[in-house]
This record gives sequence, C-alpha cells and structure tokens, in this order.
Amino acid sequence: MESEALQLVQDLMAIPGKSCLEREVVEFLRQKLLQAGLPESSMMIDDSQTRSPYGGNTGSLIVKLAGRKRGPRRLLMAHLDTVPLCVGCQPVRDNDVFRSANPATALGADNRGGVAVLLHSLLEILKQDLPHPPVTFFWPIQEEIGLLGARHVKVADLGNPKLCFNWDGGSPQMACIGATGAYHIEVQIAGIASHAGVHPEQGASAIAIAGLAIADLQQNGWHGLIKKGRKTGTSNIGVIAGGDATNVVTSSVRLAAEVRSHDPKFRERLMNEFRKAFERAAKQVRTDAGEPGRIEFKAELKYESFKLDETEPAVQEAQRAIRMIGLQPSVRISNGGLDANWLSSRGLPTVTLGCGQQDVHTVKETLHIPSFLAACRVGVILATAGV
Ligand SMILES: [Zn+2]
Repeated sequence: MESEALQLVQDLMAIPGKSCLEREVVEFLRQKLLQAGLPESSMMIDDSQTRSPYGGNTGSLIVKLAGRKRGPRRLLMAHLDTVPLCVGCQPVRDNDVFRSANPATALGADNRGGVAVLLHSLLEILKQDLPHPPVTFFWPIQEEIGLLGARHVKVADLGNPKLCFNWDGGSPQMACIGATGAYHIEVQIAGIASHAGVHPEQGASAIAIAGLAIADLQQNGWHGLIKKGRKTGTSNIGVIAGGDATNVVTSSVRLAAEVRSHDPKFRERLMNEFRKAFERAAKQVRTDAGEPGRIEFKAELKYESFKLDETEPAVQEAQRAIRMIGLQPSVRISNGGLDANWLSSRGLPTVTLGCGQQDVHTVKETLHIPSFLAACRVGVILATAGV
C-alpha cells in the first residue's frame, strides 16, 4: 500500500498543471480509476471553469459512490492545481522527503499530495472492496488563483454531503477548522496631467495622492499587521503602477491591495479605512484652480471567514481518524483562505487536514513522506467511516 501511494504522488507531482491547465491531471485520475474498475457513470467533470474569470481547460472532477453501509454522505476534496513555479518539476525521493531535482522549480506537493491522498483512498475502496457510507470525491480546479473551483461548483453536484474533509497542508494531525476572510481592493487614482516643468501647479499628481494615502494608512496602523484593541487583521498594498514620464504630472495610478480579518465587521472596517484614506488624499492634492484628484475604489469579497464548532461532526470525525492512526489531534485556525472557506460558507462544514507539504510555493518545497503516508491512512478511514 505504501509503495503504491508513493508512486501515485510522485507521478502526480511530475504532471504540469498550474491553475487553469489541470486537464492532464484530471485525465491521469480518470485513467487510474477506470483501470481500477470505476464505471464512467460515477464520474463527472463539472463546468465551473465557465464561471471562472480566467476560463481554463477543464472543470473539476467529481466522483460519487452510493453507500454500501448506512451513514451520512462524506466528501473528500483536494485542489488539483499547483502554482506556476512547479511547472517543470522532477520529483525525486531523498530519504524521508520528495523534492524536485530541477532546482528552478517547486515540487507541487501543494497540492498533488492532497490529490494523491484522495486517489489512494478511492483506489483502496475499489481494490479491496471496502464497505463505505455514501461518499463523494471532489478535485476542484483553480484554488491557487482565488479558490475558484470550490467557489463555482454547483453544490447539488456534490450529492449533499454532511461531513467534508479537505487535504491541503502540512501536519497530518492538525485539523484546520476555521480560516480568515479577505477583500480584494482596487484603487484607480485619477490626477490631472500638466507639464511638470512649465505648469506643475496646473496639475494634480496621482502619485502624490497615492503617497499621502499610503503614509496615512501606515502611520495610523492600518497597513501590515493591524491591532486595534482586541480586533486584529492584516492588510497589504501589493501592486502600484503608474506614470510614464518625468516631465508630466502623473494623471493615473492603479493600486491593488487586500485586507483580511477573521471578524467580518472588522474586515469591513479595514476596507473602509482604505477607502477613506484615498478619498482624503485625493482632496488634498489640487490644481491651482482648486480642482482635486479623484479616486475610483472597488472592493470585492474574495472569501468569507468561517469557524467550525469543535462539536461539529466533521471535526469530531477527523479527530477520531487521527487518533486511530496513533497521532494526537490538534485544531487550528488559518490566516490564509482555503477551498474550505467557500464550502463552509455555502453550508458544507469542511475540515482541512495536512498531507506532508513543506515550504510550499518555494523552490525548497518538499513532501514529508511519513506525514503523507499518515494522511493516506486518515483518508481511508474518513472515506470508509472505518474503525
Ligand atoms: Zn494548496
């Protein structure tokens, strides 16, 4: 069982499949499942890519099995895509880890480790004819570019699961039961152009407006790690672009930023502090005729925060499975967004578990083999409601 699981994950990590180009990974999974005797009629590829702003060459893969024992439907999920840095990876084993022999790439343990945990669990069910309750296997596309497969799946296609488990992380005994929420912010600053040498006073600099707004946010504690009383959050202005000549007062600057907080009200406050800072700055920068700059401010909810109760059946069941393989379960809350955010906020409480990922999104990325194998054992228990 161990060598098969390791072969699966090694093969999966070698397949290029960054966000929007996951079709080859889907085809690999389909072939493995067909060879193991899964009927074509149990599989579907959804059309979530048609609702993604980025398109994509495939939808998400969903496999639904009817129950062979009683119990609520379970769902196991793991996103298919990797970050672009993984393309060209050559996974090799190096003692108790896999790493990429190509030093210019990441490995793609995030998230082919998770993809392999699901595939291995389903193959074990098929090959050993294991009894199981109704169970859905869900491999969503496009997690890395905004949780889009999980966001755009039709919940009806998942078969009404009651307990959901997502693999995307490191430690196999850690159950992530909540995650932060985030807004994406776009600010378009419209200044007024003028000759910078002849009539600078007739212009209003969009760069000056951006500078004032950023200084305001930074000095008042609204940029970076944010702590206001007992409320916490983070923010980051990650993109700034504008201007094309030194002899023109700059008329256009675009910024992109994000704000995050577990607290939806405080997250909205952060977003509004950003809006107000840019509005104030735009009013301060005027032409000699008194005409101010203007801003266009857009904020979009990227994902809602969630927190599952520790009495939630999925949380209890995940902890039971972890104990069964001899590990001590612990729970945590994530400061990043997960596919679980979208499922949980759409009424499907989802616990996220680790599968041995280390140093993800870097060229140092590895897959910790003992952790991956532990996740495979947890996966089989959760898929089968095993004892
Ligand atoms: Zn991931």
